[in-house]
Amino acid sequence: MAKYTDSVCRLCRREGAKLFLKGDRCLTKKCAMERRPVAPGQHGAARKKNSEYAIQLREKQKVKRAYGVLERQFYRYYQTAENMKGKTGENMLSLLERRLDNVVYRLGIGASRAEARQIVGHGHIIVNGKNVNIPSYNVNVGDIISIKESKRKKEPFKELRETTVVLPKWLEWNPEKLEGKVLRLPERSDIDLTIAEHLIVEIYSR
Ligand code: SF4
Repeated sequence: MAKYTDSVCRLCRREGAKLFLKGDRCLTKKCAMERRPVAPGQHGAARKKNSEYAIQLREKQKVKRAYGVLERQFYRYYQTAENMKGKTGENMLSLLERRLDNVVYRLGIGASRAEARQIVGHGHIIVNGKNVNIPSYNVNVGDIISIKESKRKKEPFKELRETTVVLPKWLEWNPEKLEGKVLRLPERSDIDLTIAEHLIVEIYSR
């Protein structure tokens, strides 16, 4: 599978938004978006007038990059969302938010979505008592997400990031049992990134 290997901070600078790809560093003054909030490259700081298409494209790229999803899979989310009841854009964001790697990140088990993805991929996560190592696994209402018993005393789980994590309302975390629960499906208001999802729907509807 294709993999992005360059600096992830360049992605934030390209999209002109903090995508929180680097864990705790994103919350400090060392964040590249705090220090140099212009697009990367020689002409990054130059003012450009963007076409309608360019604005739609940037919005799509921003969401893909925030959730760490590549084009083919992202388009599949769009197709699934289109066949669901309700607004396509909101459905698509809800599907992305329900990804297991995102849930692991939102629960504070991983410092970033990339780290959460690795934790899931390495088989450290249990869903409803079963080992699940698929980052794109879609959680459902009532699912219990926990850390494998044998891994609990090891890094990075020894100190879960309870101080910096803002738990979304659709999830619950039990610090004694080290397990999370899906209380309901995520809604539009639960997504904390600034996203104009209608632009993504527009670009795919062209
Ligand atoms: Fe880098 Fe995080 Fe800042 Fe993005 S938000 S520029 S990933 S430190």
